[in-house]
Amino acid sequence: MTKSYDFFKLVLDSLPNQIVVIDSLGEIVFSNKVWDDVAKENGSELLEWRGINYLSVCENAALTGDEISAEVSVGIQAVMNGKQPSFYYEYPCHGINEKRWFMMRVVAMHYQANDYFLITHHNITERKLSEEAARDLSRIDALTSIANRRYFNTFFKAEWRRCLRSKLRFTLAMVDIDHFKLLNDTYGHQKGDEVLIQFAAVLNDFCRRPGDLCARYGGEEFALIWTDIDHEEAVTLAEELLTQVESLEIANEHSPTKPILTTSIGLVSVYPQGMNELEILAEADELLYEAKQQGRNRLVANKLT
Ligand code: GH3
Ligand code: MG
Ligand code: MG
Repeated sequence: MTKSYDFFKLVLDSLPNQIVVIDSLGEIVFSNKVWDDVAKENGSELLEWRGINYLSVCENAALTGDEISAEVSVGIQAVMNGKQPSFYYEYPCHGINEKRWFMMRVVAMHYQANDYFLITHHNITERKLSEEAARDLSRIDALTSIANRRYFNTFFKAEWRRCLRSKLRFTLAMVDIDHFKLLNDTYGHQKGDEVLIQFAAVLNDFCRRPGDLCARYGGEEFALIWTDIDHEEAVTLAEELLTQVESLEIANEHSPTKPILTTSIGLVSVYPQGMNELEILAEADELLYEAKQQGRNRLVANKLT
């Protein structure tokens, strides 16, 4: 029997998963080597986990405001009370220098008229990282490496709602390169692509705070969101942007506006209360159209509320 215990302990110690078994009171009756090692890595000085009440550890952590422990306690108890046969929980456990995620699984076992619960944690970092990468890719425009229109839509809605809740000013600027077709026709599509990359990088520099976004809206049209800044401040930023684009001195020799790359901007700023977010998009488009009509290489701005 001892021999078979040692043998199976060796098997469990050789698995990459952290494993503990608790009894019907929540007390640990078994932990494998990986469990002990990971606990040590996380700063635990305990050498022997047997006898420690796992449930109490979770509940105490929950009392200090640890939300993961709170949810884990509820899940374990649901399995212990027979309300559900198993419990799965994915959670982050990031180190100082690396991101890590784990999946916890709790499942009931019955042995010699006693109830036990097997708790395993396994590392799902690889999957989480590839999910994150896929999500980032789906948000980024492949040519310019800034946000794409899909992400713009999501961000726009979220920031609009945040500004509505917090009574903050919301600014939207639609930015469209002037006579870009002529630039393509004169220097080729390849050169056009390079200019778009350079242009996007300049725009992106104007959106540095968490509530800001610069996105490629389509073709040679870009959208900027600034939150919680005055209308006057937004106008100053947009004018600075026009100057910076001119100072790139990218040739567009056949442009009737100027023989260099220029851009037009329609900017609108509002307090979202009582407004529909689609109205501000339409208004920014209208202002951009006016900027084009008035001769391009300019800003037309409107403070709606
Ligand atoms: P306007 O001042 O009225 O905006 O004139 P425009 O020539 O910039 O506007 P128009 O809509 O007539 O043409 C836009 C051009 O942008 C045409 C299209 O080929 C070019 N374009 C759109 N996307 C890309 C791209 O990814 N790469 C390149 N090189 N060109 C693009
Ligand atoms: Mg254009
Ligand atoms: Mg356009």
